[in-house]
Parts: sequence; C-alpha cells; structure tokens
Amino acid sequence: MNVEIIAVGSELLTPDRLDTNSLYLTAQLNALGVEVVAKAVIGDDRGRLTEAVRAALTRSEIVILTGGLGPTEDDVTREAVAAALGRSLLWREELLEAIEQRFRRLGRQMAEINRRQAFLIEGAEALANHHGTAPGQWVALAGRVVMLLPGPPPELQPMFADYCLPRLRRLLPALVIRTRVLRVAGMPESDLDQLISPVYTQYHNPVTTILAAPGDIQIHLRARAESEAEAERLVSELSSRIEALLGERIYSRDGAPLEAAVGQLLRSRGATLSVAESCTGGLVGERITAVPGSSDYFLGGFLVYTDRLKVELLGVAPQLLAEHTAVSEPVAAAMAEATRARTGSTFALSTTGIAGPAGGTQATPVGTVFI
Ligand code: ATP
Repeated sequence: MNVEIIAVGSELLTPDRLDTNSLYLTAQLNALGVEVVAKAVIGDDRGRLTEAVRAALTRSEIVILTGGLGPTEDDVTREAVAAALGRSLLWREELLEAIEQRFRRLGRQMAEINRRQAFLIEGAEALANHHGTAPGQWVALAGRVVMLLPGPPPELQPMFADYCLPRLRRLLPALVIRTRVLRVAGMPESDLDQLISPVYTQYHNPVTTILAAPGDIQIHLRARAESEAEAERLVSELSSRIEALLGERIYSRDGAPLEAAVGQLLRSRGATLSVAESCTGGLVGERITAVPGSSDYFLGGFLVYTDRLKVELLGVAPQLLAEHTAVSEPVAAAMAEATRARTGSTFALSTTGIAGPAGGTQATPVGTVFI
C-alpha cells in the first residue's frame, strides 16, 4: 500500500517552521511495514489543497493530512477534502458538545467560530482529540482511506497512536521492514557508487539509498518482508555483497558514527586516547566525549591554538615551529608525541591546520590540515 502525507499550513512554507508531523508519521508507518511514497506541504488555500488531495488519491491508497482543522477562516482542510471527495460537510451536534465540554473544563468561553470544528465529512468517523479542540476524521472509501489530523504535534501524535494505528493494523497486511546502515569513510560518493551500484541495482527489495555528507557516507538498506527472518535475510544478503566490495572502508554496520566505532576499537583493545588540538579548537574532543562511556578510553587533551601554547603546554621545540611553521607534518607529529608522553595514553591524535577564511599562504593554502 502506498501512503502520501500532506502537511497543511502556510506557516510551513516560511523559513521559520518545519513540517515535523510527517517525520513522526513516517516512522510510525514504516514500523507497520508501509512506505511513504510522497509528501507535500500546501498553504492554507482551499483550491490548491483540493487539487492536491485529488491527485494523491489517484496514486495512493492512504492519504494523511495534518493541520488546517482549526476554527479560523484559513483552516480549510475539512472543506478541501470534502470537495475532493465530492462529499458534503455535515453538522454534528455531538462534536460541538465535546468541544464545548473541553472549553468548560478549561474554564473558558467558547468562541462562536469554534462551531466550525463540529463539521464532519459525510461518511467520516470522528477521532477524539483529548489535547485540543479539533477532532480528527477517518474517511474510509472503497479501497482507500483519508485521514485528517490536527497540526499541533501534541494533538496529532496521541490521536494517531490511539485511533489510527489500531485501524491501520486491521487494514494492512502484516509486513516487516528491516534496515541496515553501513557507514563508510575515506572515499568520495561518486567512487563509492561506481563500485557498488552494479550490485545494489540488481535488488528492488532491499531498497538502497546513499546519503553523503562531508567526511561521511551512509548506505541505507531497507528490506520489506512478511516475516522478520525473511527481512533480515534479504538485508544481510545485499549487505554482505556490498561489504565484500568496500572491505575496511566500512567502519560501522549499525549506523554508529565514526567516534563510536573508534571508541569501540579502543575499548576492545584496552587502549586509551588523548588529543592535542589546534585548528579544530576542541571539536575532536567534543565528538569523542559525546559518545556515552567515552571515559573508558578517553583521557583528555590540550587545546593549543597559538604557537606559544604549543611550546609552553606541549614542549614543542620553538626551532621546529620556526623551521616548518605550525601547520606542518613535523609539528603535528611533535604535538601527538608530546601529548602521548604527557598523558600516558596508548594513542594520541593531533590536529593543526588553516581553517580559514583568512590566513592561507601560497605554500599552505586555506584547508591544509595535518592530523
Ligand atoms: P489548531 O486547532 O491549533 O488551529 P490545526 O489542525 O488547525 O490546529 P494548524 O493551525 O495548521 O493546526 O497548526 C497549528 C500549529 O501546529 C502550527 O502553528 C505549528 O506549530 C504546528 N504544526 C502544524 N502543522 C505542523 C507540521 N506539519 N509539523 C509540525 N508542526 C506543525
């Protein structure tokens, strides 16, 4: 079954607000073995939203709308979905009663415009909102379902969990999704893809996605099957073929970041690490200590940004700095050696470089780093 999510709200088209409801819904749907095939964000425009709902229903069996169920003129989801389905909106006294009760409980006067929230699409089931005024709606059509859910996450999430998940479980064939995340270092994305695409393109299940960021490539494998064992078998088969091609370039098979993989290696050898950082200004230590339990192997380090501190705290020879400059291999090596000697760690890691934007020279341009 295909699912589409439509997040409604003009504020979601500004740089200030992000549609996070669809992320929550996607995680919940994936756990049921259902893939989200398309997402859209539509402003508070009845015509455009009607179009979007109509189009989604031609492609997908399940369409979930979030937001636009409030009481104001610009809350157009009810009207737009009714128009897309060619159904009327029916006034439901019991919905108004529930909304009025909520206001009474909070000791507030209900505004006249809240009456709008008591309209239900013909044939829809109302979904109670225990954390706000707007009821949700579940509209079952022949072989299709449309859900209307409130925008605020504290209202949407319990409503989806309490009322939509049980209905979806009854509707959906039981499918299991298994994912594996391989993380790779030391290789550009295009080289990696050239190497592994002849293998992964042979498979439609698992689906392979490659996510690349500076210094980090992740290969996501997602398999769908009727049982956990079958999903696991599918994911393992493709994973081992990719692993055979990439070998030691893969540093983690469970999605763990590089600093966690390094920590695991240190711990398994009973080894310790310390750092001396110049250009990274403490960022290496920050990443290493962000891993829970890093005190098992991380001793600490030196933040030596200036030449003077490299000399005073680490004992780097002033002649070495004068001869090679701070951004050089001999100085990086001297920093690491001194750090290991002073902390007694098994390994020491040093960084020295020119982060920019200024400070580069012809011989040592911005971006030059010795590790
Ligand atoms: P209300 O009754 O509060 O008006 P509503 O269903 O009409 O509910 P909206 O008015 O569309 O919801 O949104 C209310 C607030 O909910 C937004 O200001 C925003 O903070 C949050 N919200 C709406 N949609 C999303 C979304 N897709 N992801 C995350 N937050 C959202």
